Amino acid sequence: MSKKVLVLGEVRDGELRNVSYEAIAAAKEIAAGGEIVAVLCGEGMSNHGQTLLHYGADRVVLAEHALLNEYSTDGYVQALLQVIDQEKPEGLVLGHTALGKDMSPRLAARLESGLISDVTSLEKVGEEVIFTRPIYSGKAFEKKVIQDGLIFVTIRPNNIPPLELDESRSGDVSTLSVDVKDLRTIIKDVVRKASTGVDLSEAKIIVAGGRGVKSTDGFKPLQELADVLGAAVGASRGACDADYCDYSLQIGQTGKVVTPDLYIACGISGAIQHLAGMSNSKVIVAINKDPEASIFSVADYGIVGDLFDVVPLLTEEFKNV
Ligand code: FAD
Repeated sequence: MSKKVLVLGEVRDGELRNVSYEAIAAAKEIAAGGEIVAVLCGEGMSNHGQTLLHYGADRVVLAEHALLNEYSTDGYVQALLQVIDQEKPEGLVLGHTALGKDMSPRLAARLESGLISDVTSLEKVGEEVIFTRPIYSGKAFEKKVIQDGLIFVTIRPNNIPPLELDESRSGDVSTLSVDVKDLRTIIKDVVRKASTGVDLSEAKIIVAGGRGVKSTDGFKPLQELADVLGAAVGASRGACDADYCDYSLQIGQTGKVVTPDLYIACGISGAIQHLAGMSNSKVIVAINKDPEASIFSVADYGIVGDLFDVVPLLTEEFKNV
């Protein structure tokens, strides 16, 4: 039976995040020929609305209010509830991003619905959609179905391929002036840390450093390799705890969970808590001077050697590609 499915588009620094397109692809499976309605919160979003149509949304609702220009749990939940009240969807898809992780449990509670979080794939079997999600820090996967009520899921970024961009697609983009009030927190200003520009959680290639980089300066050859590859730089908690880099780079159980096409681990031992954040990467390259390091057990390619010799060689080679 076809269903109407709502998707929340995420915008950061004025750009739509890829997970918005991936959510539309997931919604398409759930909708089974039904309508996909994308929602964007905040002012001045109509251009992004057009882009979501090009990526497969059938219709876009712009939930407009000045207080939605910056994310707040209260504001977004209030706005989404009003859109849901208007649209009465049978499915709801959000990214399993910081925003999605923050608001989805509250939204589920308000809607008195279940929630399957951190979905990495979904498949259609007859009328049912089966959702797969990792458990036990990625050591196992469970499959779940929702048999009753709202099909509410969050999807892990970089796992579900977006639909092909089709700029000839069009659809209705309407505005809903939502009522947002009594916010417990109001964002006055956002001061971002300087970043290299590539978002770690959506990066296709990550060059990550561990305690083996030995210092803040030790990250320089990794950054150079990342620049050549158009990659993001990440880190183990060992490197963060040693103050070689900022905690925003930490990958793992208590850091970011990433699924790039290529993960290059440099001087990282491969503790289980680190593997929890990166072992689903498509191709893993490990560089470590200890041939017994656990990281080699998950690596597709292993280089036993000193990272300060190997990484600059890779940089030089990739410059010529
Ligand atoms: P180490 O284990 O010290 O490994 C350094 C590696 O570098 C070694 O294998 C060494 O052979 C190699 N090396 C040294 N010099 C060189 C060189 N010149 N060239 C090549 N290789 C070299 N960790 C995370 O990463 N993410 C998490 O989210 C996380 N969450 C945690 C949560 C909990 C509750 C706990 C208890 C721990 C958590 N940890 C996490 C910590 C984790 O257990 C490890 O301590 C940490 O991952 C180790 O970091 P590391 O591999 O960089 O350091």
